[in-house]
Amino acid sequence: DTEKLTFDELITHWAQEKPDQVALEQDGAALTFAELEDRSRRIVAMLAAHGVGKGDRIAWLGKNARHYFELFYSAARIGVVMVPIGWRLAAPEIAYILGDTGAKLVFIDEGFGELAAKACGELDTPPEIIDTPTAQREIAAAPADAFDGAGPDDPVLQLYTSGTTGNPKGAVLTNANLFSLRQPAEAAAQPWSSWDEDEAILICMPCAHIGGTGLGIMAIAAGIRGIVQSEFTPDGVLDGFEQGITRLFIVPAALQMVVQHPRAKDTDMSAVKYVMYGAAPIPLDLLREAVQTIPGAGFLQCYGMTETTGTIAMLPPEDHALDGNQRMRSAGKAVPGAELKVVGEDGAELPRGEVGELICKSPSNMQGYWNLPDATRGALKDGWMHTGDAAYMDEDGYVYIQDRIKDMIISGGENVYPAQVESAIYGHPAVGEVAVIGVPDDTWGEAVKACVVAKPGSEVDAEDIITFTRERLAGFKVPKTVDVIPEMPRNASGKILRRELRAPYWEGRDRQVN
Ligand code: ATP
Ligand code: MG
Repeated sequence: DTEKLTFDELITHWAQEKPDQVALEQDGAALTFAELEDRSRRIVAMLAAHGVGKGDRIAWLGKNARHYFELFYSAARIGVVMVPIGWRLAAPEIAYILGDTGAKLVFIDEGFGELAAKACGELDTPPEIIDTPTAQREIAAAPADAFDGAGPDDPVLQLYTSGTTGNPKGAVLTNANLFSLRQPAEAAAQPWSSWDEDEAILICMPCAHIGGTGLGIMAIAAGIRGIVQSEFTPDGVLDGFEQGITRLFIVPAALQMVVQHPRAKDTDMSAVKYVMYGAAPIPLDLLREAVQTIPGAGFLQCYGMTETTGTIAMLPPEDHALDGNQRMRSAGKAVPGAELKVVGEDGAELPRGEVGELICKSPSNMQGYWNLPDATRGALKDGWMHTGDAAYMDEDGYVYIQDRIKDMIISGGENVYPAQVESAIYGHPAVGEVAVIGVPDDTWGEAVKACVVAKPGSEVDAEDIITFTRERLAGFKVPKTVDVIPEMPRNASGKILRRELRAPYWEGRDRQVN
């Protein structure tokens, strides 16, 4: 079987091979590959009727929806670039993305009319707003004509980075970026790259992120069923387990809610084959708890970024043995087709074991950031994506992500990686969530501070946290101060916004970013 590197090839292929197989499902409503083939032709005609063709951008504002994925797949067949926008964003943030992309149309989900109108009101040349009922009517009335399919190097998706370290940037991704790591023979040689016909993959992370839309891409690449849930809830995931989903991707904060849910113990999870998790550091205790709670599943840690179309390193199930193995702290090794290196400030590769910046060469690396040529040049050098993550690699090529370089704390000349300190503090029984930041310190340059949210029903004592950490980490890593806060600031991907926690302490000062 030859590689299929475009949506157009894949949809044609699956519609011929297994027309009656369900491609997408939501709340029991299903769309087969034969129906997708037919409807996507009508969607192309509907887009053309609005003057939209190859190279144009369209946006989606809404939660996860079967209609979104159908629209994305169909637009991608002709090289119309989809821009899914996070539904938790505020009107000015949405306006920024719509303006930045110059989207001609914005498709909106039920309940998003007011927000879309507000965002569009801020733009000189706003996109046309099309709600779901209107889109559905127009699609049904459009002809199922033939069209010219887009090629592997045509952009099809523009995903904005999560905005954890600053403004979100639009990563432009082509057909080949999306599919090239998913189908080559060497990738298929990994056990988790083979799929049974009756598998179902749960899409519950937000579609504005690669952890959401990327699962739809995975489903199309494998020709299996994508089960769409409008948004993540722990109950939804547990229901999905009982309804026989076989794979899912979730971020650590979501995994925590699932495994610590009172229902988890009584849920039949026997159908789950693989639990993919990642997008943020995972505390070791949480990972061990998850492996114990879903014992039949293979766990796959995924490391990657929007700019690399998601996963470029994976920690395979066999490295999740609960026997104290140290590999469980690793984010895994490069997936087949991708290359990873750890480099120093001069760009030269560092010896194994030394911490530097992780860089990646991969056919999944984005074309570039939309409208940001300088940022693109800074990030993509000779085809190597500079991740901004500090990491080291062991002799066997496993990478150990330390943290983001921008979040590293330099205290008295020593480098402190917040994730390591957080992981230690997380072991304290009263701690629900924790974030570690650097605050200005006249003596040390920066001092380590922990911001802690107590577990429901528990109380956190600052001195107690400091003592607890001192027993587990070197002195320079132990927080000098602890703030007990009511709630952790997170973005829509569930990532902790350390920059927000840092801001009040750095007001009026410049933080030296490494
Ligand atoms: P922005 O680039 O806008 O600041 P972001 O980097 O959070 O936001 P994403 O592209 O969603 O946007 O996230 C990629 C980052 O997530 C990686 O650079 C890394 O810091 C982190 N990450 C991803 N997977 C893992 C993992 N398995 N372990 C630790 N960190 C991870
Ligand atoms: Mg980033």
